[in-house]
Amino acid sequence: MPDLAGKVALVTGASSGIGEATARELARQWARVALFARRENRLEEVADGIRRGGGKVMVLTGDVTDPAAVLSAVQRLLADWKRVDVLVNNAGRGMAAPFEAVTAQELRDLLEVNLIGVLTATQAVLPAMRQQGSGHIINVSSVAGRRGLPLRSAYNATKFALVGLTEALRQELRGTGIRVSLVYPISTVTEFHDAEVKKAEPRRYGPVQSAEQVAGAIVRCVQRPRPEVYPYPPARILAVLSALAPGFVDWMMERLRSR
Ligand code: NDP
Repeated sequence: MPDLAGKVALVTGASSGIGEATARELARQWARVALFARRENRLEEVADGIRRGGGKVMVLTGDVTDPAAVLSAVQRLLADWKRVDVLVNNAGRGMAAPFEAVTAQELRDLLEVNLIGVLTATQAVLPAMRQQGSGHIINVSSVAGRRGLPLRSAYNATKFALVGLTEALRQELRGTGIRVSLVYPISTVTEFHDAEVKKAEPRRYGPVQSAEQVAGAIVRCVQRPRPEVYPYPPARILAVLSALAPGFVDWMMERLRSR
């Protein structure tokens, strides 16, 4: 696999779960890693672990829904390390609720984090990447961005929207040296389910992955860029089936649900 030594990566949502595991794995491959999230104490703990392993790390505290905080984090990163090779747009939140219990404000809030936050961070790094003539944007969607699930309408909407945004950007950036990838994790063991807005207890379907498995797939994508990554490969079948035979997949999910 190509060497990541000296590359500069910015990971949003690096204070727990998939983002934390991705930051650790990038550092293990000798990339320099900037950690972005709101909980500074958690970011410092992740950074300490990376430093103890001999890695280079920078803590950037902020909220992806605050454009000024995102821009100033990127400016600090560029001032210190002079470049940015990889942006992993991972920060995200969930919501479990019956459709009729989702308020417009809750959907707006979720979009702010899961979609607008990605737009903001990406627009903040693109000028530097364009100047470098290289870069890689990796957006963490979900299988819930390819197949809607009951009690997850708001979350599904944000993750589907991220797919459209990313596919369009990938084509707009063709020829610039900047790669764009989408990651579709299945259910992953993290703090996600504790942190999400919860008005219902949706059923969990199928297998579960570890954050380290998803992080491994993301880092392999940094090393060998691809448009789409399914860290649990059989999940691609669900995405394809859902596009070809949505009624059949509804029926299949209902049968799984009633088990
Ligand atoms: P976690 O809750 O463990 O991590 C979420 C991360 O996002 C935290 O570091 C959190 O940090 C950060 N974050 C949340 N809101 C903001 C914000 N406004 N500004 C900055 N950072 C923020 O969950 P996961 O690791 O599971 O989630 C990571 C991504 O993976 C999300 O995009 C999620 O949608 C996606 N995903 C998760 C799946 C799962 O089953 N876990 C399945 C498929 C996709 P802090 O609170 O410190 O700001």
